[in-house]
Amino acid sequence: MNYEEISTLESTYTSGGVGRRPVAIVRASGARLWDSEGNEYIDCAASQGWANVGHSHPAVVAAIQRQLQIYVAGQESSFNDQRALWMQELAGVLQPSLNWDGCVIHPSNSGTEANEAAIKFARYITGRPGIVAAKRSFHGRTMGALSLTWNPKYRKPFEPLVPGVTHATFDDIDSFAEAVGDDTAAVIIEIVQGEGGVFPGSGEFFRALRQLCTERGALLIVDEIQTGVGRTGRWLACEHFGLSPDVVTLGKSIGGGLPMGVTAWRSELGRLKPGLHGSTFGGNPLACAASRAVIQVMRDENLPARADRLGQELRENLAALPTQKIRQVRGLGLMVGVELRGKVTPVLQQLIQRGVWALPAGLNVLRLLPPLVIQEEDLARVTAVIGEVLA
Ligand code: PLP
Repeated sequence: MNYEEISTLESTYTSGGVGRRPVAIVRASGARLWDSEGNEYIDCAASQGWANVGHSHPAVVAAIQRQLQIYVAGQESSFNDQRALWMQELAGVLQPSLNWDGCVIHPSNSGTEANEAAIKFARYITGRPGIVAAKRSFHGRTMGALSLTWNPKYRKPFEPLVPGVTHATFDDIDSFAEAVGDDTAAVIIEIVQGEGGVFPGSGEFFRALRQLCTERGALLIVDEIQTGVGRTGRWLACEHFGLSPDVVTLGKSIGGGLPMGVTAWRSELGRLKPGLHGSTFGGNPLACAASRAVIQVMRDENLPARADRLGQELRENLAALPTQKIRQVRGLGLMVGVELRGKVTPVLQQLIQRGVWALPAGLNVLRLLPPLVIQEEDLARVTAVIGEVLA
């Protein structure tokens, strides 16, 4: 099918809830995308940040193919070998990263579901109703997760949302100290605010927030759905600051391209009673097999360290571009934001015309989230193309 055929057909039926670029992507491999007309793009979006190990990584494809023949979907209401091994392997990564002695893992099917589970768990365990999130945050779009998400553009049309949620200023401990009270079940934050504009928080803030939550009996939830799985140069972005939250949520890259969300918490906090929370597909053997392959690839190819090194080079090279149109380059690892002195949409369009597929973050930030397996020549090309477009 060509672009006209695909776009006409899809436009007939789409809800319209997701804005589309006038391109039909039909194939992907590693850090490359191809459209229906045969044009090739360097992927600097990792399909909204899910493809940290790259598209169709052979080890992930093999794991999925193998499991497809055996057992695809089965609920958590029976035990399963793939799920059991996946939990053990994931715990083996999370515990040292977060300095936890033990952990409890609740699997679901998306980032937004992982955050839903986190706030349900926080209310359940503390018996308190309140949740404090950060201004500029993004935590998903179901009613609970949307209540945490800050941007009024996403929230307003769907109000009233879940009561009890307030928003404090990110990276400002005084603002959080004012918002967190005796009725606060949890504080939820991102380590680098992604959708909000690629803003990393400071170590000082995270340390003070940890202390505040402990003092006031609120759980600290860190949303690592975009920052996790090696993206920022560590397995989890919390590691940069030695931050040990009570709950962590994962999504996007943890499933290797299959839908998966994870809500994990330190085991001392306890567990849910049977029947309290779950879903038909959460923890299905196919997604668990894919995720096991992701964990293995991250280790075998040392991808967090690669993200650290390539991200630093990329940020330096972008900051050195001879243009007045860049206000600031920031980020952690291969989560990079280029704040422009103008709107990002025309820049994204020109990048696509030159074979670079990137993302916005707000109105004026160009966001780069390439697969961590991206080749250095490709990153050099991306920098050169951004330089041309901003010249
Ligand atoms: N939390 C963060 C930090 C995200 O970046 C996203 C998605 O962009 C979500 C939650 C929601 O994840 P999903 O789109 O898988 O529901």
